[in-house]
Amino acid sequence: MTDRQVVLKSPREIALMREAGRIAALALRETAKAAEPGVTTAELDRVAEAAIRSRGGIPSFKGLYGFPASICCSLNDEIVHGIPSTKRTIRAGDLVKIDIGVKREGYHSDTALTVGVGAIPPEAQRLIEVTEQALWAGIRACCAGGRVRDISAAIERYVRSQGNYGIVRQYVGHGIGRQFHEAPQVPNYLDPRHPVNTPLKPGLVIAIEPMLNAGSWETKQRPGDSWTVYTADGSLSAHFEHTVAITAGEPEVLTLP
Ligand code: MG
Repeated sequence: MTDRQVVLKSPREIALMREAGRIAALALRETAKAAEPGVTTAELDRVAEAAIRSRGGIPSFKGLYGFPASICCSLNDEIVHGIPSTKRTIRAGDLVKIDIGVKREGYHSDTALTVGVGAIPPEAQRLIEVTEQALWAGIRACCAGGRVRDISAAIERYVRSQGNYGIVRQYVGHGIGRQFHEAPQVPNYLDPRHPVNTPLKPGLVIAIEPMLNAGSWETKQRPGDSWTVYTADGSLSAHFEHTVAITAGEPEVLTLP
């Protein structure tokens, strides 16, 4: 993989992305709070869209590759790209994954989290915690002078130290900026045959997004649903994501409220 297409951002551009990120973070927090038993995923989509637009943002996902909603909302064994629906009602015990993108003044941000609704089994709670900590392990590896593979390795090393989780391989993090998906890809595992060697330079902005399954890493799609990605073995899945700017010093997480 070359880094020819990587677009480094100026401090002015990162300031714009920081504002897009702040709106995404606030919208994500509001939407997660609304995830209660009896609420449909379509209602969460409405909450998110209102939270984004009231702050001057535009939902990045709406229309992206033809996606029909403002958020992706994926339940339980759904990994990513679930379409909000009036027919999907959240129940106690569900794992709800909410993924939000916001565009503002031409720049995108991308952030996601997983919440357990009501009482969830300890192993589901642990899956959530390990996935969130895997994201932070990746963020801590965002050091100028390093390579994207350092992030992948840090995430994989942390996950392996925590048990037998399946790290999703088919979907990965990505550069982000004027385009929602930019180079480089940011895998959550190290593939020695295809090392991702893009240098981490100040001004590189990436979305890091580990997806962990309680079972196998393998994924599937179902007939008649060209969007939702499921775990192949029906096991639970969790997902966390932040948009992160590489700086000369500490990495800056742009998607914090
Ligand atoms: Mg993303």
